[in-house]
Amino acid sequence: MTKSPVWAIWPDSKVPSDSNPSAVNPRPPTVHRPHTPAALTAIQSRALRRPGARMGCSKPALPPESNDEVPGLCYTTVVATFSGKRVMVFGGAGFVGSHLCERLLADGAAGVVAVDNLCTGAEGNVAHLGKDARFELVRHDVTEPLGLQGPVDVLFNLASPASPFDYAKLWLETLRAGALGTQHALELAEKTGAVMLQASTSEVYGDPIVHPQVESYTGNVDCTGPRAVYDEAKRYAETLVMGFHRHRGVKTRIARIFNTYGPRMRLQDGRVVPAFVSQALKGQDFTVFGDGSQTRCFCYVADLVDGLVRLALSDVTEPVNLGNPEERTIREFAEAVRRAVGGGGKIVTKPLPQGDPKVRRPDITRAKTLLGWAPKVGLDEGLARTIEYFRAVV
Ligand code: NAD
Ligand code: UDP
Repeated sequence: MTKSPVWAIWPDSKVPSDSNPSAVNPRPPTVHRPHTPAALTAIQSRALRRPGARMGCSKPALPPESNDEVPGLCYTTVVATFSGKRVMVFGGAGFVGSHLCERLLADGAAGVVAVDNLCTGAEGNVAHLGKDARFELVRHDVTEPLGLQGPVDVLFNLASPASPFDYAKLWLETLRAGALGTQHALELAEKTGAVMLQASTSEVYGDPIVHPQVESYTGNVDCTGPRAVYDEAKRYAETLVMGFHRHRGVKTRIARIFNTYGPRMRLQDGRVVPAFVSQALKGQDFTVFGDGSQTRCFCYVADLVDGLVRLALSDVTEPVNLGNPEERTIREFAEAVRRAVGGGGKIVTKPLPQGDPKVRRPDITRAKTLLGWAPKVGLDEGLARTIEYFRAVV
């Protein structure tokens, strides 16, 4: 049986009349008005009483010391699901993107189109979704004009090389993805009335001086350092997103993603999780960069995807940190992998790459409060699932 495409894909010159944005997205744009904390509490408790309410603010205000921006923000509680929605995922054949596509289909999306040039992703990541008539993979470089038309309710922009190894090699592609790819995503969202969620990163905080990192922190990025191609591309992308939101009324969301791991990471992508897991599985030594005292927090991919879904369905336009706040040094992480795999080699040190952040931990107060989100999968469980996957591919 031939599969009929969920998305009509045709040149700009043949745009059909049903791609009229107002027909696709009848909801008026969200208007944010300042509310007093008391009014906010009333809105939240009303919304949470509504049947089907899935998430919302659990507290009206936050302790100022943990995130002094949040009490001033005002958002209504989310009462929505992906059921019946038409979703595009730029970068949908990557590690996070493939899990997101899977989750969207499981949540009842009417159609999911992954747009990917496979520069760091793989068709194999979404091959299993090809059996579902609601899924389509379109091979395309999003830095080039899209020529895709049709209704879109939500667009996730994940298209960018993400590992330090990848973005050092694909430096110009990374800058172009952050700038042109993001602009194309926003223009498509503007045309279709879709919500556009930008996958940003903890790297916008650079080598942070404020710890843990709260969204109000503006960061410490070296704009000429080797990581700048990624950091500055993502910072520019956030600026672009806010511009389209403020000046053109596009419904935008910004997720600042912290280190995420899980099945379908590439074995050779250079990130610490596949590096240490594959080294442990092969009985090789752990290559710890520097003295291993730098810290990171590791979020299991299913938790991250849940955060992305919640954020897309919310009306939170300010950036939101998504990550697991459990912090450990890289040496401690090597020990955790050694315990999980069993056996394994010793730790050997290698030079610390220039600009490698010394600490990183998300303050997730905003995500907890506005999205009702917090990670659920601990490192032991997440590592066990990841190791199971890597055993099959090593
Ligand atoms: P990934 O490399 O596995 O996925 C990125 C995907 O985007 C790949 O499939 C790649 O082929 C595609 N892509 C890149 N440039 C493209 C282009 N010009 N046109 C079309 N497709 C293109 O990386 P990931 O870990 O899944 O990251 C996904 C997103 O999340 C990225 O935007 C990344 O910056 C962000 N992020 C990830 C993490 C993490 O720890 N995984 C942390 C912070 C931010
Ligand atoms: N790292 C390491 N050995 C490796 C790969 C990475 O010690 O083989 C360190 C790296 O220097 C960094 C941390 O692990 O301090 C996380 O690196 P990753 O590339 O996964 O992500 P980053 O947080 O740097 O973007």
